Amino acid sequence: MSAGVTQPAGAAGNLRGAGVKLGCIADDFTGATDLANNLVRSGMRVVQTIGVPDDAAAVDADAIVVALKSRTEPAADAIAQSLEALRWLQAQGVEQIYFKYCSTFDSTAAGNIGPVAEALMDALATDFTIATPAFPENGRTVFKGHLFVGDVLLHESGMQNHPLTPMTDPNLVRVLQAQCKRRVGLIDYRTVAQGADAVRARIAALREEGVSLAVLDAVSNEDLLRVGPALGDLPLLTAGSGVAIGLPQNWGLNANDQAAQLPRGSGMQAIVSGSCSLATNRQVLDFIRRGGQALAIDPMRIAAGVDVAAAALAWAEPLLAQGPVLLYSTADATDVKAVQGKLGVGEAGALVEQTIARIARGLVERGVGQLLVAGGETSGACVQALDIDQMQIGTQIDPGVPWCHAHSAAAPAGSLHIALKSGNFGTDDFFTKAFGVIA
Ligand code: ADP
Repeated sequence: MSAGVTQPAGAAGNLRGAGVKLGCIADDFTGATDLANNLVRSGMRVVQTIGVPDDAAAVDADAIVVALKSRTEPAADAIAQSLEALRWLQAQGVEQIYFKYCSTFDSTAAGNIGPVAEALMDALATDFTIATPAFPENGRTVFKGHLFVGDVLLHESGMQNHPLTPMTDPNLVRVLQAQCKRRVGLIDYRTVAQGADAVRARIAALREEGVSLAVLDAVSNEDLLRVGPALGDLPLLTAGSGVAIGLPQNWGLNANDQAAQLPRGSGMQAIVSGSCSLATNRQVLDFIRRGGQALAIDPMRIAAGVDVAAAALAWAEPLLAQGPVLLYSTADATDVKAVQGKLGVGEAGALVEQTIARIARGLVERGVGQLLVAGGETSGACVQALDIDQMQIGTQIDPGVPWCHAHSAAAPAGSLHIALKSGNFGTDDFFTKAFGVIA
């Protein structure tokens, strides 16, 4: 075990030197990027890994975010994955662990937030941690332990109908207690408003009472910044991405341009899109209206056995030198339903994802050094096809979507810039403006 995480991290007057400071375990891929983006904006240099890396090579960053896919796995599997991530992060010498989950506290009655948090507490031999999905800037606030999504309580936000993790109770103390063996308490907004010393005193009182996990109220980003110093004393934090904004200050780090600095962008530019969200549909239209070169990919031709990826690459190759090209299967809901009706939802999704992933790899092999991918699942398939296992996080294009720099064996130069946009993110002109943001 690393010495670091057994020590109080970032205590006042105890600022640390070089090396990885914060080790994060995220329960899904786009959530990991969201957290990484917040840390970069607040002054940390961040590397995100796709799963737990096989090797123990040292990573040069202030924070590492390990992206898992554990949110809806059986609890035992989620625990095993999280502990594996913990061990790898400890080998990197991190000083504090951050377990990141969704800002709508997505979990089933069986977990996985509570069981994973408790397993990490056991492994770190710590008797106290906090839990809060609050991120007021994104409309997630926690007041008297109750989670609001925008102006409504969690169980009226649509999350009550989520297919995998329906959230029917907005009282997070109750929700978390149902998932935990240890006692769950609350650090409420009045304490938070008084600042870090009051939070420290409340944590001490809760510990006395035998409480081991406390839901933390936060109704503004200022709340998160204010409590940051008190959280530096805890070996383990559990939270959405919001708490991250108050942590870099514990190591004397503040927002700065260097944190988002990536190597210079080079190579040709391309966009692949397998997202069928409303926002992505608008972005595709906007790109075409501006005169961008674009090719639609027809799932039925893929299903008919046509080598659509090869045809798409042959179309793109002569155009690449002139500016960004777009290859997209993006379609509106009616068209998607029609395709799904003929091929089945899973089969249609997998066929399109695999084709777009082959196109992405082919583009990179042909010299595309700046690649934009639209779609969460599509991004997963592309990252895999490009053999990317870690990304350094750079400048944000739009909230939640940063440019990243990654090593890929597919790239002639050995590395590329890549941005992964999940469905509903980004303004209409995203596909055009993204290339203006890269250095
Ligand atoms: P988002 O982030 O918008 O949800 P995803 O990539 O996660 O995007 O999911 C979109 C899914 O839809 C993928 O599985 C993709 O392969 C599939 N898909 C893309 N285009 C089509 C289409 N034209 N018809 C049917 N399915 C499609």
